[in-house]
Amino acid sequence: MVDNLRVVVAAAGKGSRMGSSLNKQYLLLNGWPVLSYSLDFFERLRVVSQIVVVCAANEVDYCQQEVVKRFNFNKVTAVVPGGKERQDSVWLGLQQLPSDTDLVAVHDGARPLLSAEVIARLVAEAMEWGAAIPGIPSKDTVKLGDRDGFVRQTLDRTSVYAIQTPQVFNFNELLTAYREAREEGFLGTDDASLFERYIGRVKIVTGDYNNIKITTPEDMIVAAALLKR
Ligand code: C5P
Repeated sequence: MVDNLRVVVAAAGKGSRMGSSLNKQYLLLNGWPVLSYSLDFFERLRVVSQIVVVCAANEVDYCQQEVVKRFNFNKVTAVVPGGKERQDSVWLGLQQLPSDTDLVAVHDGARPLLSAEVIARLVAEAMEWGAAIPGIPSKDTVKLGDRDGFVRQTLDRTSVYAIQTPQVFNFNELLTAYREAREEGFLGTDDASLFERYIGRVKIVTGDYNNIKITTPEDMIVAAALLKR
């Protein structure tokens, strides 16, 4: 078992779909900032040795004071400003980790509902394959559309997954993938897409339907209810 899983939490997004002036990461969910849930989860997880938080440049002090210091998250060694895209933010976070890191977990600060079972599966598979990500099978039928809004193809939903975070990787391989993507100017929608493109196969682990990403105001209501349960 690894004992130095390190974590990058990406929390530098603007979250414009929330319609709130306060960044969604800092909105209160059952009394606590959204971001504090994932930091608390990783802080308590024995295998985690270090956490880096990436936040918006103008929120670094706020995050440091109102979240990291306030809740005594001692494993957080750096709060650094992020970049324009999520990929830029994660890259900046990865720079903060030492080269002896075995595995790195990259997580969205906007996902407060982590599960210990899922992370254990991710770590085990990432140790074997170099990359493991949580995916949930689609409950709905999934179709590809064309530009005119007509169905092009109905996909086999048993092989379609909605992908979540945390995504866990061999640190040096992920760093290589990020460097190559920067050289090529490739922008992926998640970290695994870079690993798939430059390094190799990524293992899908069964995720958790509760692990929602706070995107719109309704998500706060759902997350609050799920946390209470
Ligand atoms: O925008 P979206 O919700 O898809 O972002 C996913 C995660 O990535 C969020 O936690 C957000 O704060 C983070 N992000 C970031 N830097 C950006 C854009 C998004 O850290 N430039």
